[in-house]
Amino acid sequence: MTARMLDGKVLAQKVRDEVRADVARFVSEFGRPPGLDVVLVGDDQASVVYTRNKEKASNEVGMRGRLHRLPAETTEAELLGRVHDLCVDDTVDGILVQLPLPKHIREDRVIDAIVPAKDVDGFHPINAGLLSAGKPALVPCTPTGCMRLITESGVKLDGARAVVVGRSNIVGKPMAMLLLAANATVTIAHSKTHDLPGVCREADVLVVAVGRKRMVTGDWVKPGAVVIDVGINRDENGKLCGDVDTESAAERASFITPVPGGVGPMTIACLLQNTVRAARARMGLGK
Ligand code: NAP
Repeated sequence: MTARMLDGKVLAQKVRDEVRADVARFVSEFGRPPGLDVVLVGDDQASVVYTRNKEKASNEVGMRGRLHRLPAETTEAELLGRVHDLCVDDTVDGILVQLPLPKHIREDRVIDAIVPAKDVDGFHPINAGLLSAGKPALVPCTPTGCMRLITESGVKLDGARAVVVGRSNIVGKPMAMLLLAANATVTIAHSKTHDLPGVCREADVLVVAVGRKRMVTGDWVKPGAVVIDVGINRDENGKLCGDVDTESAAERASFITPVPGGVGPMTIACLLQNTVRAARARMGLGK
């Protein structure tokens, strides 16, 4: 079998087009665009690129995207002050503080300070709890994008065996909750899991979010499985690669996401979608 590629770029464009239409409707109803405020502390190169892309993408779909760049020496209290200002600003619908933060700032304190209704990253414990309880929530963007890619494959999740490798709050755990909500039978694997290849081989849907280049090889993949590769790594030659060895996995999978061009583009598209949802919910229009 040779897997079909799940093209994240094409699907992300579709999501952006949907968001653009939602934004236009929002503007005509409320006379202002949804506002997304992204806060970056310091000048980590990757974070500078990510935050600029988020600002640009939000403006491209007609939102008011704004990037707040704060110096690396910003204190925790100063950052909390900025977050508070955004929380009480009525023109701000979504707040995203780019992680990682400099070591002298406690990330948990900052995430907890974002009002859950504007937490478009979906990292606030209230949103994580709502997701676990099966209630409407702002859901982290990367797993939301993965679900959309899985849906695109056409795989029936009802009763399917799903394995998520990785248990981070950002990807693995919310991913597992979304799959569970879609009636899959879900296993969450991690660095202490025994016989990880054997566990992965049971999966009809295999989502890998580990951060280890090409760790999952073709012999870990059940024939016909849908494989979603969340990892973003650099190989020995500095080339971007995922957590899955795409070439060998594609010989067994039915569908697989490439890296780059799979999950990555979906993440920003889902951030835009979350921002419109947050804006609509704040205006009493539901999520
Ligand atoms: P993370 O917080 O570092 O979590 C990694 C998880 O992988 C942990 O649960 C860890 O297990 C598990 N793990 C590590 N080594 C393992 C091994 N040898 N076998 C089994 N499990 C192992 O990472 P993350 O934030 O979830 O991100 C994961 C990857 O996705 C990274 O490559 C990141 O760059 C990428 N990512 C991509 C996007 C995107 O938009 N495409 C977004 C977010 C993240 P323990 O809990 O036991 O330590």
